[in-house]
Amino acid sequence: MNVDYLLIGQGISGTWLSYFLQKENKSFLMLDDKDPKAPSRLAAGIINPVTGRRHVSTWMIETLLPNAWEQYTALGKQLCIHAISHKNVTDFFPSPQMRESFVKRAGEQYEYVSIPEDQQAFQPQFSYDFGYGEIHPVYTAHLETIIPAWREKMLQENRLREEKFIAEEMDVFPDHILYKDIRAGKVIFCDGAICARNPWFRLLPFAPNKGEALLLNIPDLPDERIYKKGLLLVPMAGKNKWWLGSAYEWEFEHDQPSPAFRDKAEQTLQHWLKLPYTVTDHIASIRPATLERRPFVGLHPLHPAIGILNGMGTKGCSLAPYFAAQLTAHLVHDQPLNPEADVRRFSRVLSRNIS
Ligand SMILES: Cc1cc2nc3c(=O)[nH]c(=O)nc-3n(C[C@H](O)[C@H](O)[C@H](O)COP(=O)(O)OP(=O)(O)OC[C@H]3O[C@@H](n4cnc5c(N)ncnc54)[C@H](O)[C@@H]3O)c2cc1C
Repeated sequence: MNVDYLLIGQGISGTWLSYFLQKENKSFLMLDDKDPKAPSRLAAGIINPVTGRRHVSTWMIETLLPNAWEQYTALGKQLCIHAISHKNVTDFFPSPQMRESFVKRAGEQYEYVSIPEDQQAFQPQFSYDFGYGEIHPVYTAHLETIIPAWREKMLQENRLREEKFIAEEMDVFPDHILYKDIRAGKVIFCDGAICARNPWFRLLPFAPNKGEALLLNIPDLPDERIYKKGLLLVPMAGKNKWWLGSAYEWEFEHDQPSPAFRDKAEQTLQHWLKLPYTVTDHIASIRPATLERRPFVGLHPLHPAIGILNGMGTKGCSLAPYFAAQLTAHLVHDQPLNPEADVRRFSRVLSRNIS
């Protein structure tokens, strides 16, 4: 089989890269081993313009936010699914200090936060003593719908094989690669956190980060928004389905759900949520995060037939559509990559790979 591109992985990165390559009429084949613990199968899909206790704008958000809305809407149309929703965050203040800091931020006419006038609106559902603010606009990308729908389309078009890629079985040449019966002009790794062990890219400064969440059934909680009090309570596709997360662990011994997170999450719920709930699942997954919190995009400095779209960290839902489009323009039209994301910023480190 002869293709322009072989893509490894159909998480949100591989999904978006294949979407844009398809729009350019390029031939490609995806290999995906359908890891049930891949973060793209477990994330809540939030696209939030602010981060941290001081609510600072996230990197490139002025560009990424409208881009995400536009691209997910177009993808949803193509797949006949609902791919993105507008769900602002209602942020319950855990302390008077946090309230003060939020009020100050809102007073600076900062466009992404405000204090709603009616501070009693959520008394029937939640216990809270210090009021709440609103973060806006916030979107949720419906990964639980998008990833399987795109997979189905790729399978029907014979553009995806459900199998594990084995690096040792690939031969690399300057202008193509050979893998089993496949000859491809280039291979692009969209393989998530496992890439930290990839023979060509393992020297990149990956900093895998573990996240956990509880899946809940909560009847009677209005689902037009996300609620936050330390953890985020996010409405998911399906009646009464909610996601509560997440942990951010830089050091961890295993990738399994931990009793410590479950205790913390249940305690948060007991002090906060007034409605009855049931826990239906407890999930854990490893984010493909990077030391300097920027993605890895582009071609290997020594092996131009090998590329990467990875390092999406905590922001895959907004970064993947933007950088998949940029990588496609780079591959097909030789357009430049954002230097902060271009993997060739690590040329020296990656050149050590040959020894
Ligand atoms: C608990 C949690 C909550 C999160 N919440 C959010 C959020 O709200 N918003 C947000 O933007 N981001 C969130 N993230 C981060 C987000 O999930 C990731 O940034 C994103 O999913 C990474 O996507 P990816 O496609 O690069 O990698 P992955 O999702 O890891 O996908 C890699 C794919 O490659 C396949 N694969 C790997 N190796 C091979 C191989 N050798 N052969 C074949 N296939 C292979 C895997 O099966 C998988 O399908 C969250 C992450 C976690 C863990």
